[in-house]
Amino acid sequence: MSAGFNWEQGFLLDFDLLTGLSKGANASKRYLSQMKEMYYDESAVSKCLDGGDPLIYEFYELGAPEDAGALAFGTSIVYPGKIGDEYFMTKGHFHTIIATSEVYYCLAGKGAMLCENPEGDVKLFELEAGKALYVPPRYAHRSINTGQETLVTFFVFRGDAGHDYGTIEEKGYRKLLVEKDQKPTLVDNPKWS
Ligand code: ZN
Repeated sequence: MSAGFNWEQGFLLDFDLLTGLSKGANASKRYLSQMKEMYYDESAVSKCLDGGDPLIYEFYELGAPEDAGALAFGTSIVYPGKIGDEYFMTKGHFHTIIATSEVYYCLAGKGAMLCENPEGDVKLFELEAGKALYVPPRYAHRSINTGQETLVTFFVFRGDAGHDYGTIEEKGYRKLLVEKDQKPTLVDNPKWS
């Protein structure tokens, strides 16, 4: 929980609705080296890392108190680019309290939200500025930038939902979004286990 935000009394915070940036929220950055196992094309990953370590995405958030009555919110910023033919994307996560939902509002750019539940049902939602997305409970969710611009979304979810990154880190997603004939195409993940 960030100092200076009084959850019980309410507070105001700045968010730039074009860039997603905030002066008051905490920034977290994810570089390729921190998520290299998530891309299926290992030679494309090493080739890319030889030339540097690109920033794939960053997010701004407030650590909400772990209370079912609190809301956690912030922005996610995914940069344009590909590793081989696979788009820049977030790691993706389930919620620790898996039966909790989340709302994303797309502020800028173009992309998709790839959602997958433990039983293997997969849903792909297209994101563009002005679209609000309700991510259903029990679905892992990952933002993917399929465009040329930065993909910016604002999100809000139950304060105590928690993030489970481990399941995706270990198993991966069953499906991946890659560029085929210049179009985003859903394919099986050869590394899924
Ligand atoms: Zn979430």
